[in-house]
Amino acid sequence: MNYYSTNKQAPTATLEKAVVKGLAEDRGLYMPEHIKQLPGEFFDNIQNMSFQEMSCRVADAFFGDDVETEELHRIVCDTLAFETPVVKVNNNIYSLELFHGPTLAFKDVGARFMARLLGYFIRKERQAGSLQGDVNVLVATSGDTGSAVANGFLGVEGIHVYVLYPKGKVSPIQECQFTTLGRNITAIEVDGVFDDCQALVKSAFMDEELNAHMKLTSANSINVARFLPQAFYYFNAYAQLKQTAHPAGTNSQLVVCVPSGNFGNICAALFAHAMGLPVKRFIAANNANDIFYQYLQTGIYNPQPSKQTLANAMDVGAPSNFARILDLYGESHERICNLISGATYSDAQIEQTMRQCHAATGYVLDPHGACGYRALQEQLQPGETGVFCETAHPAKFKDTVERIIGHEVAIPPRLAAFMKGEKRSVPMPNSFAEFKQYLLTT
Ligand SMILES: *Cc1c(COP(=O)(O)O)cnc(C)c1O
Repeated sequence: MNYYSTNKQAPTATLEKAVVKGLAEDRGLYMPEHIKQLPGEFFDNIQNMSFQEMSCRVADAFFGDDVETEELHRIVCDTLAFETPVVKVNNNIYSLELFHGPTLAFKDVGARFMARLLGYFIRKERQAGSLQGDVNVLVATSGDTGSAVANGFLGVEGIHVYVLYPKGKVSPIQECQFTTLGRNITAIEVDGVFDDCQALVKSAFMDEELNAHMKLTSANSINVARFLPQAFYYFNAYAQLKQTAHPAGTNSQLVVCVPSGNFGNICAALFAHAMGLPVKRFIAANNANDIFYQYLQTGIYNPQPSKQTLANAMDVGAPSNFARILDLYGESHERICNLISGATYSDAQIEQTMRQCHAATGYVLDPHGACGYRALQEQLQPGETGVFCETAHPAKFKDTVERIIGHEVAIPPRLAAFMKGEKRSVPMPNSFAEFKQYLLTT
């Protein structure tokens, strides 16, 4: 299957090209040319399948033309080495817990899948003799992306990852998740802010001498190999409701609510819906960065500089996957409004929701999941069942969560293990000349 650009000014690309390049030449986002419907038989039996089994069927629909079945299924099973349980929070609201992966956030799924798919294409290119040396992934991070990408790519043959992060600007818990890994992961501690890290990466991609010297690629969240696999867990959520004979498994009253920043996660949910997943409607929950909410109200997309909030992984003022949502619904504001509603919450509302939920149910929300939970509380209609994504483990925001709920949050053992590791990073001034010199000589 080929992939076209949302800007429609670039030639279509093979899966391999779309994965290696990330962004199309016209700076548009790649979209699959077809979205295959899954048959009724699949949905009738989904409650009897394992997470890995159902995900293989979903992956076949997207990638089956381009990757040998056995390889593809191995990639899926390797990626999904953890569960995404659905947990009841109160009467009709359920949490889809996406934090059981190695770095305790949903980005683990996409990052692990992309690493393995890229690894597969690199092996093929090497066998064909069209590639010598390693492929180098450059990624700038303000915290969460770097840890998911670094851990996703850890130990993948033929790939070296450079994580650039702003010195002193990521939390110790985040920092240890990409500075203690070693092997094919190098952490670069830039004397600057996140935007400086991103500028260094962009300059590197545009530098001819550097690109002639080494093969560079990104692991950006807009990559089709990162965002499409996120569809897997929405099928799993539905299957779990069916397993417990929950009415939402049969009555078409399921509402899915996704705390959103760049809108990659909700976009994957919309693809699942387009493949036939029986979801009645979606809610995109925003923090104070309410660009999509405003679009729903006015029909006008008006990107803004991002605002800092408690749910900082959603501090996005120009959501990149917005172009995919527009494209999916033929640019129709009406069609989008019929399927998706919005919500936007201040930090004060996020805090209040975390306290209220903990007091009433005992469930500990992280600041991102809190937006999702609150949107369901406010917007669910009688008869509907809501599932929100709990996108990160509350321990990733330990100090914030403990201050708000007044209760200790235990650190899961796999997170504690990172914190025992030895930090290793390369100090780097905020200078492209020095960064380039470093890459040329390592
Ligand atoms: C990245 C992230 C989000 C936002 O997801 P998008 O796909 O960018 O909309 C929400 N919560 C957490 C914890 C994240 O890391």
